[in-house]
Amino acid sequence: MSNQPLFYIIIGILSIQFFTETILDYLNAKNYHKPVPEELNDVFDTEEYLKSQDYKKTNYRFALTTSTFSFTLTLLFLIFGGFGWVDQIARSYTDNNIVIALIFFGIIMIGSDIITTPFSYYSTFVIEEKFGFNKSTTKLFFMDKLKGWLMTTILGGIILTLIIWFFNWANSNFWIYTWAVIAVVSLLINLFYSKLIVPLFNKQTPLSDGTLKNKIESYAQKVGFELKNIFVIDGSKRSTKANAYFSGFGKEKRVTLYDTLINDLEEDEIVAVLAHEVGHYKRKHIIFNLISSILLTGFTLFILSLFINTPEVSLAIGVSKPSFHAALISFGILYSPISEFTGLIMNYISRKFEYQADDYAKNTFAAMPLITSLKKLSKNSLSNLTPHPAYVFMHYSHPPLIARIKNLKA
Ligand SMILES: [Zn+2]
Repeated sequence: MSNQPLFYIIIGILSIQFFTETILDYLNAKNYHKPVPEELNDVFDTEEYLKSQDYKKTNYRFALTTSTFSFTLTLLFLIFGGFGWVDQIARSYTDNNIVIALIFFGIIMIGSDIITTPFSYYSTFVIEEKFGFNKSTTKLFFMDKLKGWLMTTILGGIILTLIIWFFNWANSNFWIYTWAVIAVVSLLINLFYSKLIVPLFNKQTPLSDGTLKNKIESYAQKVGFELKNIFVIDGSKRSTKANAYFSGFGKEKRVTLYDTLINDLEEDEIVAVLAHEVGHYKRKHIIFNLISSILLTGFTLFILSLFINTPEVSLAIGVSKPSFHAALISFGILYSPISEFTGLIMNYISRKFEYQADDYAKNTFAAMPLITSLKKLSKNSLSNLTPHPAYVFMHYSHPPLIARIKNLKA
C-alpha cells in the first residue's frame, strides 16, 4: 500500500464515483414503477410491459453486482499493492521502459478482461437469452473476444510504443506528437471503420434493388444528399436488437442498416430513421463530434504532460519506481472527475443534436413514421419509458422517448 497523499485521493475519487453511480441507478430503478406517459400507452401491451420491467430490474440487480464486484476488486488491488507487483513482474524481464510498459498493460488488460468475462457471458447467455434477445453462440462469443483482444493488442501496442518512444525522445513535449498520431488514427478509423473493422465481426451486403432502395434514393435526391453506399449488416447473428448508423465522410460515407431493422420496420419508417441520420450529417454533427473529440484528447494529453514527470503521481498506485506507465494509470484515475465533467457536456450536446436530427427528419420527410419507428425500436429493446431525470442528465446521449415524441409532435 502506498503512503502517498495522492493514494488517498485516488481511493476517494473511486469511492465517490462508485457511490454516486449506485445512487443514480437506485433512483432510476425506483422510477420503473411510475405510470407510463399517455403518449406511450401504445408502445407495450400490459404483458409486454411487465416483461420490460422485469428485464430492467434484472439488469439493475446484475449491474449492481458487477459494479460492487469491480469496485471492491480495484480497491483491494490498490490496497494490497497489485500494481507494484505487476510492475515487478514486468521489470524482471527487461530494462527497456517500452517493453516494461507493454508487459505491464498487457497483464492488466488481459487479467481484468478474464475476470470480467464470466459477467459478460452471464449477461449474454443468461439475461439476454431469457428475454429473447440473444442470437449469439458460445463459439461466436469467444471468437469476438479473441478478435477484440488481437485488435487491442496490435492497435494499443503500437500506440503505447509510440507514446513512450516520443516521451523518451521529447520528454514532456511528447503530448504534441502523441496528439498528432491519435488524431490521424482516429480520422482513419472513422473513414475506414466500415471497410476495415466491421468486416472482422460482421458481414455487410449492399442493399438489394427494390421499393426500399428506391424510396431511400428518392429521399436522398430530394434533400441533395449524395448516397451511393447503403449496406445491410447481419446484426441478427448476435442480437434481435435493431440499429442504423452512419460512418465515414466525403466519398467514403455510407449508411449501414441492421437486417433486424429492415425486418422490424415498415419502409417509410426506415426512410424516416435514415432521414434522422442524414440530419446528423447535414447539421454537421458528425464533424463536430470528431473535432471535439480530437480537441479533448489534446487537452487531456496536455494536462498529462504537466504531471507525467512528477514522481508522486506514479508512486501513488504503489509501485517502487516512478515510470511513464504507472503515472498513466494514476493520472487516468485522478483525471476522471474532469473527464466525467466533459462527458456530461458532450451528452448534453448530443441530446440537443438528437432533437435537431429529429427536426430535420420531420421537416424533410415526416414526423409520424419516425414516431412509430422510435416506438417500435423502444419496444424491441424493452427500453425504459420512465427514466429518472437525474439519470438522463448524467448518462443519456439521447433524450428519453417521451421527450422526442413530444418534440416531433410539436
Ligand atoms: Zn441520432
